[in-house]
Amino acid sequence: MEKTEVVVAGAGPTGLMLACELRLAGIDVVLVDGLAARTGESRAGGVHARTMELFDQRGLLEHLRPQGRRMQAGHFGALPLDFSDFDTRHPYMLAVLQSVVERELDQRVTELGTTVRWGAPVVGFAQDATGIEVEIGGQAGPRKIRASYLVGCDGGRSAVRKLASIGFSGTDATVTGMLADVELADPPDGPFFGHRRGAGDYSAVQFEPGWYRLIVQRHDLVLPRGATLSFDDFRASYREIAGTDFGMHSPRWVTHYGDAARQADRYRDRRVFLAGDAAHIHYPAGGQGLNLGVQDAVNLGWKLAIALRGNVSDELLDTYESERWPIGARVLQNTRAQTALQRPGPHMDALRETMGDLIDMDVVRQRLGLMITALDIRYDTKGDHPLAGRRVPDADLSTEHGATRIAELLRSGRPILLRLNGHQLGSAAGSRVDVIDANSTQRWSVPGLGEIPVPAAVLIRPDGYVAWAAAHSDDTGLTEALSTWFGTD
Ligand SMILES: Cc1cc2nc3c(=O)[nH]c(=O)nc-3n(C[C@H](O)[C@H](O)[C@H](O)COP(=O)(O)OP(=O)(O)OC[C@H]3O[C@@H](n4cnc5c(N)ncnc54)[C@H](O)[C@@H]3O)c2cc1C
Repeated sequence: MEKTEVVVAGAGPTGLMLACELRLAGIDVVLVDGLAARTGESRAGGVHARTMELFDQRGLLEHLRPQGRRMQAGHFGALPLDFSDFDTRHPYMLAVLQSVVERELDQRVTELGTTVRWGAPVVGFAQDATGIEVEIGGQAGPRKIRASYLVGCDGGRSAVRKLASIGFSGTDATVTGMLADVELADPPDGPFFGHRRGAGDYSAVQFEPGWYRLIVQRHDLVLPRGATLSFDDFRASYREIAGTDFGMHSPRWVTHYGDAARQADRYRDRRVFLAGDAAHIHYPAGGQGLNLGVQDAVNLGWKLAIALRGNVSDELLDTYESERWPIGARVLQNTRAQTALQRPGPHMDALRETMGDLIDMDVVRQRLGLMITALDIRYDTKGDHPLAGRRVPDADLSTEHGATRIAELLRSGRPILLRLNGHQLGSAAGSRVDVIDANSTQRWSVPGLGEIPVPAAVLIRPDGYVAWAAAHSDDTGLTEALSTWFGTD
């Protein structure tokens, strides 16, 4: 029987990112997908600041950025949210298609030594005390792979989730979004988003010269999940709501989706984990799904690697659920709020006007924007330093090897103890982390918090979150943080 360390089911953005993270840490991975080949569907239309930071930390952003377009604002329920003053190197949304993100991740995972096995759906598994036997179906016939862990990144209808008997609780669809990637004979003057009219709203955004993404959202019908939507039906719906079809023709992709919002009751069942859409589905309001999945993957990847190779308590793997489940839950909540805000009628018009006024207030714009961009995430890593549990700012540094920044140090995917401005803390860190001495002269900026003094030392997890930090030469709590997160030598 074939053996590996981790089977990743599903080669969408979540599975690809997870496989990249595992390979970077030197873990053996089998990445399978039930489809015969990649569809090339454009799907998601953008990534937010925190995902860009993660891509930057792995050297992927430099490949993606030239293939996308910067947008200073995102939205909340189609009310504009300006990100341009957020404390990040990427205070914008990058309009880049999911198909492009997948292509880059595909290339990276191949460079790291794993290729997707297409036509190979996970159809069963059995776990025992020492491992898991994963059953693969598909054209090549049934076969089994023995692994230490299985991660279901197999989308909203996840077979892994169902086989693990993990519930998927939430709310049913109340609205239908219809989308078509098309060419236009008579295009609008510029892009527009969320124009409200009658029972719905409509948008038109040019993605590349020659083609547009048109979306119509209808609050007066709920299409069943498996229903097909023809291009003619899409055009008729768009025309009915927008009053024009802009001469649409030559569709590349036509689809529909609803606002069912569901979340896996658990993200872990012993040796089985769920990530991405397999763990949570929701309306693509604010453009958060792909981001959430990639961030799940980056949270889980290094933990699995340390569990496989390090001497660490199994509780480390439980922190995947305790950290990521609440983040998923709040995305579901905010998408519910956004679809509610987009309902038609004079009462909602009044509420939108009120919300628009509130969003003009800095504190509200920051609160919503930092949530949508996921820059405000703070995990419970203990410790009372303001950085504890937050993402580490991408500060400029000078080291004995020259100028660098924190995102570049994280490219190895290794934990880092960064000692700043001559503070010599943590000499007993051992081989679990890379100890790096650097100078940083400017105060550090933290989203939602403002500027803070440069810390004396920061213990940075491979996902870029701060496991421990000290303001002065005092390493209280460092030994515990090292063994909690990275095990013992
Ligand atoms: C119209 C639309 C617009 C969107 N816009 C945005 C946006 O702007 N920003 C954003 O962040 N998100 C957006 N999203 C959401 C985003 O597309 C999803 O959240 C994202 O695709 C989730 O990635 P995933 O890898 O978790 O799952 P998927 O992309 O669904 O990938 C799952 C993979 O698993 C495979 N699979 C299924 N069953 C099995 C099995 N049994 N064994 C092995 N493999 C299997 C599938 O073939 C598939 O390749 C949008 C979604 C839609 C529909």
